[in-house]
Amino acid sequence: MLIVMTRTATPDLVARVCQVIETMGLVAHPMFGAQRTAIGVTGNKRQVDSDRIANLPGVQEVIQVTRPYQLVSREYHPEDTVVDIGGVKVGGREFTLMAGPCSVESEEQCTRIAEAVAESGVRIFRGGAYKPRSSPYTFQGLGEQGLEILAKVRERFGLKIVTEAVDTETLGLVAQYTDIIQIGARNMQNYSLLKKAGQTGKPILLKRGQAATLDELLLSAEYILAENNPNVILCERGVRTLANHSRNTLDLSAIPFIKSSSHLPIIADPSHGTGRREKVLPLSRASMAVGADGIMVEVHNQPELALSDGAQSITLDMFRTLVKQLRRLAPTVDKVYP
Ligand code: PEP
Ligand code: MN
Repeated sequence: MLIVMTRTATPDLVARVCQVIETMGLVAHPMFGAQRTAIGVTGNKRQVDSDRIANLPGVQEVIQVTRPYQLVSREYHPEDTVVDIGGVKVGGREFTLMAGPCSVESEEQCTRIAEAVAESGVRIFRGGAYKPRSSPYTFQGLGEQGLEILAKVRERFGLKIVTEAVDTETLGLVAQYTDIIQIGARNMQNYSLLKKAGQTGKPILLKRGQAATLDELLLSAEYILAENNPNVILCERGVRTLANHSRNTLDLSAIPFIKSSSHLPIIADPSHGTGRREKVLPLSRASMAVGADGIMVEVHNQPELALSDGAQSITLDMFRTLVKQLRRLAPTVDKVYP
């Protein structure tokens, strides 16, 4: 931590700040410049609570040098983490696609979509059985019946399953059925759910909150890693902005930022990130180009009849086109599309 004093701070005020630092068990290093004084702080194992210092008289600014997260940071673990889901990898040079409907609606619907997904060589099927909907009057998901349908899809097509756990009550059941537990945007800061999800030992797909900073996303991932579960896949799914041409703004710059600050894999979700099906293919290609480890897309056999997120669900034909495009693009951006 570095403390910048105001130009008018007297030596007494500098001494007082140094004293507070020492009482916190840290070492203060005042540096007297021609214009102003700065105080370096060492001896901290973790990020220091800067609030105690920021309000002291004569302090202009407190600059945190140490990042608030540890286990998720690249400094702590320089190599890329590759999450292995029973032989299907997320991270490293491979680009991984996860595809399926927003909601599990019926066995027939999932079978039709899973057939197309599996035929295209995609190995992870998504589908929500418990749906976190903005309105309590809309389709809330089939619950356990939906999980059973997903289990049939895994059995029949050999696909891995990713599905969301919306609360601690149903987490155990979801964990029994799924290969990857999804923690949705609305629950990114539900810390008791994060801890319990971490304790299951299952791979976790952690989606960025609708208004979360990247430090907040990484701190949420830190909760899971702190439970001794290193198998976390991050997901950029768009954030709220002033834009009214799309549902959310897919923050593609988050991807290179996360890649440099963390060893965890990060995928993009251009479906929730845009909210409109015609934007999903271009933003999927862009996600690959900026270095995402994969994407998650919503696909539906009859998007116009979908019980949730129909407007952003791509058709089976669009999905096949997408797979072809990504396969062609991969080598040009140094990715391996399996
Ligand atoms: C979803 O994946 O269907 C979903 C609800 O996503 P998010 O949490 O990103 O809104
Ligand atoms: Mn959805």
